[in-house]
Amino acid sequence: TSTTRLHRAPDRAEAARAAGRAFADAFGTEADGVFSAPGRVTIIGEHVDYQDGLCLPMAIGHRCFAAVRVTETGRLQLRSRQMPDDAVDVALADLAPGAVPVWAGYAAGVIWALADAHPQLRSGELGLAILVDGQVPLGAGLSSSAALECSVAQALEELLGLGTTQQERIAACIRAENEFVGAATGGLDQSASVRAAQGHALLLDCADGAVELEPWDLSEHGLGLLIVDTRAEHSLIGGEYAERRGQTESAAEALGAATLREVADAGADGVRDQLDALEDDVIRRRARHVVTEICRVREFADLLADGGVGENLRRLGELMNASHDSLRDDFEVTVPELDVAVGAARDAGAHGARMTGGGFGGSIIALVDADQMEATAAAVATAFAEHGFTAPVAFAAQPSTGAGRDI
Ligand code: ADP
Ligand code: MG
Repeated sequence: TSTTRLHRAPDRAEAARAAGRAFADAFGTEADGVFSAPGRVTIIGEHVDYQDGLCLPMAIGHRCFAAVRVTETGRLQLRSRQMPDDAVDVALADLAPGAVPVWAGYAAGVIWALADAHPQLRSGELGLAILVDGQVPLGAGLSSSAALECSVAQALEELLGLGTTQQERIAACIRAENEFVGAATGGLDQSASVRAAQGHALLLDCADGAVELEPWDLSEHGLGLLIVDTRAEHSLIGGEYAERRGQTESAAEALGAATLREVADAGADGVRDQLDALEDDVIRRRARHVVTEICRVREFADLLADGGVGENLRRLGELMNASHDSLRDDFEVTVPELDVAVGAARDAGAHGARMTGGGFGGSIIALVDADQMEATAAAVATAFAEHGFTAPVAFAAQPSTGAGRDI
């Protein structure tokens, strides 16, 4: 069998110091502070955020660090260690969608969005020098984009004393992604990156942004969460996401509901009758995924709140498995790499395994015994080799803390 390396999150304090040093190297002066925000995985609750659903993400240990200095240049000087050839230097007053390279838009868009309520950000007097150093793999479905946005929002809040609430920072980060970059994503990633807490899962009600923390103390129960990046193609800017989203809107409209959340809240029997009334087979299956997924999230969160992981492990795993199968069969957002990875993890003894993120590539998660993390990752790698897929990359995740200041 192949030996499979598990990537664990590097030490946070050391990574923050490294970002500070990189800032000094790049700009020849010290940063005022270093801030960071985590990537996330959805434990359960996929493709329900834009229908006002419930989802249950957790932050992972891998974070994006932003070392920032407030200047008087009126300019945004922005660099990323992940994009070493692509430094940006632009007047803050000129920030507008399309004004900077795509990657820089995730950071610049946050400043642009916050400038509406905080015009000092485009007054021409204030400038910002930002050095970004991200640990979250880019484009793997682990939300490197939200980690980048939220680290910048945290920096602006703390260095400029804007007085924004968590919810206002989340909203600015969502606008950066939707309006500035032009990626039509929901708001789950940013909420998780800002509001997650160590040892917990975050129950997020997308109807009103309300959150609740549920105990998800995996290590105390001898469990670990394995993430496997399939490295298959993943692009949410593409048309598939918009098409699925549109189909769920059509379903809600045909059912006379504002959102499919209303349908999910109608209760089990009423739900089946309502969904059966949808004539179009594709629309019916899309709606069935969203409605049943919302119900799965509610059950999962209730189990965590009442008895927790230890008492409910079998059922929690079943719900994760059912979520994946629904995304594969009804919502049709999996690709062979995701299905093979999930199948191999289950065969290797995972309590539950599912794709996480938007689909069409990206990563899977598997809830496994802590001492089976490497073996499960190796089983997925072996299956990939047999299928002729690119070798996957495995990560160990522990439920981690949301955005904050490091230095
Ligand atoms: P995901 O959020 O799942 O990683 P996205 O496609 O939403 O995938 O976002 C990935 C994009 O975000 C990258 O292609 C890049 O443009 C930008 N990005 C994220 N992190 C960084 C970083 N540390 N440095 C530069 N760009 C980044
Ligand atoms: Mg993203």
